[in-house]
Amino acid sequence: MIPFSFQNDFQNRLDHLEKAGRYRTFRVLDSGSGPIVDLDGRPRLLFASNDYLGLAGHPRMIRDTAAAVEKFGTGMGASRLVAGNHRLHEEVERGLAELKKTAGALLFSSGYLTHIGVVPTLVGPGDLIFSDSLNHASLVDACRLSRAEVVVYPHGDTDFMATRLGRKPPPGGSRILIVTDGVFSMDGDLAPLPEILALAGQYEALVLVDDAHATGVLGPYGEGSTAHWGIDPESLLTMGTFSKALGALGGFVAGPEILMAYLRNQARTLFYSTALPPAVCASVLRALHLLREEPGLLAGLRRNCAYFSNGLRALGLPLPPAGIPIFPIIVGTEAKALHLSRALWDRDICIPAIRPPTVPLNQCRLRISLSAGHTEEQMDTLLAALRELL
Ligand SMILES: *Cc1c(COP(=O)(O)O)cnc(C)c1O
Repeated sequence: MIPFSFQNDFQNRLDHLEKAGRYRTFRVLDSGSGPIVDLDGRPRLLFASNDYLGLAGHPRMIRDTAAAVEKFGTGMGASRLVAGNHRLHEEVERGLAELKKTAGALLFSSGYLTHIGVVPTLVGPGDLIFSDSLNHASLVDACRLSRAEVVVYPHGDTDFMATRLGRKPPPGGSRILIVTDGVFSMDGDLAPLPEILALAGQYEALVLVDDAHATGVLGPYGEGSTAHWGIDPESLLTMGTFSKALGALGGFVAGPEILMAYLRNQARTLFYSTALPPAVCASVLRALHLLREEPGLLAGLRRNCAYFSNGLRALGLPLPPAGIPIFPIIVGTEAKALHLSRALWDRDICIPAIRPPTVPLNQCRLRISLSAGHTEEQMDTLLAALRELL
């Protein structure tokens, strides 16, 4: 029996969540990822996965990963600085540096752990962080953990940042970090990186871009934000994850060697968390090769985005920038979002309602995500359901 004070308090909070319609439960998946999944005992059409290129179930990914398990086993058993630095970790880092056109890259066990390790290593008390109001929770938490002063700027508002920087330059010796998602996870829009970098140059700020949704998606070969905008990849620090378009698990940063060397020596989530299993590295290596060898995957994703955009346009709904596979349908209240999500679920279509704290109050939404594997017929099924329900 846990102490009564905890028991009582937690039960009260859970009751509140239940009353507010925010009590969460898990659905159970009993298949691999893909456009059609076995979810809660039935086949459902899934528009909620970030496996944008369908790599999580790609035969070559599976083959290489299985071969690496056979050869190297299932777990690494130590952090990289102790005895867990595998040749495949270094190969993945070289592959990422090549993709991102940076001097180096550094792996972490997840995207979340990347931010938690990186931000507090770059800045600390007395420093200043500018953070976009719609940044991912992992960036928000990392900023808090750094104990630097955090200025949350209105979404994409570089004028606000310029004014704030011009008005009160931080005291001498303190540093400025600007952190932003490259592609915003719940809205699908892009950060104005050229403007942000211009401002950063003017005020000697370092920029950290979260490319979780841009890696494998933006740029000619899925290189990410820097290739998309034509930005010098060594002028900033880019973070990414393997958990989305690359179909695996793990996070990384890529950038100039001085930052890699510093993080390699200082980032706590690198020291105190076990290294990724070699088999995960094998998945990522194959994913990186597929970005080059099978450009048809990214072309297919872009075709699907264009097709689905046309359908949504006919319904009068706002659209993300071309080629971004994230389509938010903002309906307002939680009740509306839940109702719409349930109505789709009743038609065997899975698109969970996104509610606070993930998005602001009264901006509840369905977040539709597409993959290269969706067929036109499957997208038509969703469009027909939306036409009926909206
Ligand atoms: C998913 C996500 C992360 C975290 O990545 P994981 O590898 O899943 O931990 C970070 N930032 C953004 C924008 C994300 O969507």
